[in-house]
Amino acid sequence: MSSQPKLSLLFTKDEIQATVKKLAAEIRRDYLGKQPILIGVLKGSFMFLADLIRFLDFPLEVEFIRLSSYGRGRESAGKIKVVQGLQSKVKGRHVLVVEDIVDTGLTSAFVLDYLGKKKPASLKVCALTDKPSRRQTPVNIDYHGLTVPDKFIVGYGLDWDERFRNLPDIYVVENEG
Ligand code: 5GP
Ligand code: MG
Repeated sequence: MSSQPKLSLLFTKDEIQATVKKLAAEIRRDYLGKQPILIGVLKGSFMFLADLIRFLDFPLEVEFIRLSSYGRGRESAGKIKVVQGLQSKVKGRHVLVVEDIVDTGLTSAFVLDYLGKKKPASLKVCALTDKPSRRQTPVNIDYHGLTVPDKFIVGYGLDWDERFRNLPDIYVVENEG
C-alpha cells in the first residue's frame, strides 16, 4: 500500500493520443456502416476504449467483459474465468475486442475462444500495447498500437496492484519500492 516503486516514462500522453487516433482511423475504415460492438476487457482497457470511441464518428455499441486472470500481483494466476459477461447478443454482429495489453496472450486467446463460440459475423482484436517477448500463445492483433519491452508498465488504465491507472502517460515500473 505504502511502497513507492520507481517509475520511468515510456510513452507520453501525446504519443498515446497519436496511436489512439491512428487505430481509430484504421477501425473507421473497416467498420463504417457495420455498427460494430466494441468489447473492452476490464479493467485495464477502460481509458483506451473511452478515448478510442471519441474518434469513431459512426454508429457502434460498447460492451465490457471482466475476467479474472491476474491476481493482485503481476503474474498470471493461470486460470481465466469470466467474472462479468456481456449484456448484448453478439451472434451475427461485428465484434472488436479492445485490450490494454497483450502480454502472454492467454487472456486474448480465452476471450476470442469465448466470443467465437457465440458466432459473431466477425471477430477481431485491437490492442493499445503489445509485449511480444512474453507470448505463450499466438494472438493475431488486427489493430496494433505500441510495442513494449519485457517490462511491467503502468498508467493510462494499466495498474500495479490497482494503483497508477489514473496516470495520463505510460511508465515502466523500474523496481518494486
Ligand atoms: P495476458 O498475459 O493474458 O496477455 O495479459 C493479461 C492481463 O495482464 C492484461 O490484460 C493486463 O491487465 C495484465 N498485464 C499484462 N502485462 C501487464 C503490464 O505490463 N502492466 C500491467 N499493468 N498489466 C499487465
Ligand atoms: Mg491488472
